[in-house]
Amino acid sequence: MQNQFKFIILIIIVAFNGLSQNIDFEKDSIMMRKMYDIALSKGKAYEDLRSLCKDVGSRLSGSAQAEMAVVWGKEKLESYNFDTVYLQDIMVPHWERGSQETGWFRVGDEKIQKVNLIALGGSIATNGLLHGELIMFETRDDLLKASREEVEGKIVFISQPMDEKMISTFNAYGGCYPIRGLGAVDAAKLGAKALVIRSLSLAEHDHPHTGSLRYEEGVNKIPAAALSTNDATLLYNKIKNSDEKVTFSLELNCKTHPDKPSHNVVAELRGTKYPNKVITIGGHLDSWDLGEGAHDDGAGIVHTMEALRILKELNYRPNYTLRVVFFMNEENGNMGGKTYAQLVHEKGEEHVAAIESDRGGFTPRGFSLDGMDEQLVLLESFSRLFEPYEVHKFVKGYGGVDIGPLKEFYPSAALIGFVPDSQRYFDFHHNANDVFENVNKRELELGAATISALLYLLDKYLYLI
Ligand SMILES: [Zn+2]
Repeated sequence: MQNQFKFIILIIIVAFNGLSQNIDFEKDSIMMRKMYDIALSKGKAYEDLRSLCKDVGSRLSGSAQAEMAVVWGKEKLESYNFDTVYLQDIMVPHWERGSQETGWFRVGDEKIQKVNLIALGGSIATNGLLHGELIMFETRDDLLKASREEVEGKIVFISQPMDEKMISTFNAYGGCYPIRGLGAVDAAKLGAKALVIRSLSLAEHDHPHTGSLRYEEGVNKIPAAALSTNDATLLYNKIKNSDEKVTFSLELNCKTHPDKPSHNVVAELRGTKYPNKVITIGGHLDSWDLGEGAHDDGAGIVHTMEALRILKELNYRPNYTLRVVFFMNEENGNMGGKTYAQLVHEKGEEHVAAIESDRGGFTPRGFSLDGMDEQLVLLESFSRLFEPYEVHKFVKGYGGVDIGPLKEFYPSAALIGFVPDSQRYFDFHHNANDVFENVNKRELELGAATISALLYLLDKYLYLI
């Protein structure tokens, strides 16, 4: 077994050395230096992000702002003179937050206390003020173990926080994601009449974080809301320190409308060697309706647009067709990503790789690959070129929500997620603080340059594997 392991390591080292020999280190170093220079000294990413955030604003699917974002995206891409710019027709869900999002709790006969809460995306309304006895569960697992007698007719509160001990905040988020996504179904199955959760964030503040929930066919739909982390902590402590009954009241008047037509926005630099083979890069144009969708995912939009623009500015003629896609509806349906994969498959295109940026505009750390070992070896063979830019992480992992559906039609395509530093992402995620002012110019520009560099290297060296 040990010998076998050594043999595999040996194969990887041989493959790595073999690939490395084919890389023109000197020429590529010079090219990458130019790319970073453009991004940092005369880049467009930061001003483009300002424009998306301030001239358009938040962009929830189906909203007027989302449609204006499509217009904005098409015009912006046209202004950079790529070979082609076009729209792809898609259908998107249309959920709208109401004007009433209020909540209060009362412990025993103490005074009522107001809390900051917001509806989870897709939630039904309460139809006026909804009152009920509150039952708290410290984890989703505790709720799943509860009996119907305990829960029926009550409002469920899941107080579970994201695990602050985890270094990758995405792992901490992943651990709590089912609370938001599935909690309403879990609670409704036991007869609850509403769900409130602690916002999925590591920051302690008064601004609740939204995000989508799912309902299940055949299970009663109940309203669901997120409390700010400060209020969730307050409520948790009150309940832990009291034997009194706790009541909760909330009002939500959000609404689901019929699906609406919308678009992905696409631009290309056409391949000179393999025009029918495509490398897609992109982020999502829609955002939650709080804040301005600056990190999530305005950053991904301008990162990938800038990545292609830098190559164009350097007069680089790609081998493959390089395509930037502004995906619509990542947040509550992923209809952009799903429709894109379906459409390009029907067109008979071949997809060799895709890069997605949807983890914010923070300092670049590297990339995570959803793909094969040979593809990882290729990425690792670029690591020396990225060293001067302090980009060092090349690991197997997640690609991204928007590019994920490509896997069904192109199982051997390399799906690559851009990985910036994750420590502050969930301070802003799906929250009123996700505004332009909270994005750092240099960090954003470094991200664009890093994605541009990887796009260049993939275009040049993918043929090696
Ligand atoms: Zn996102």
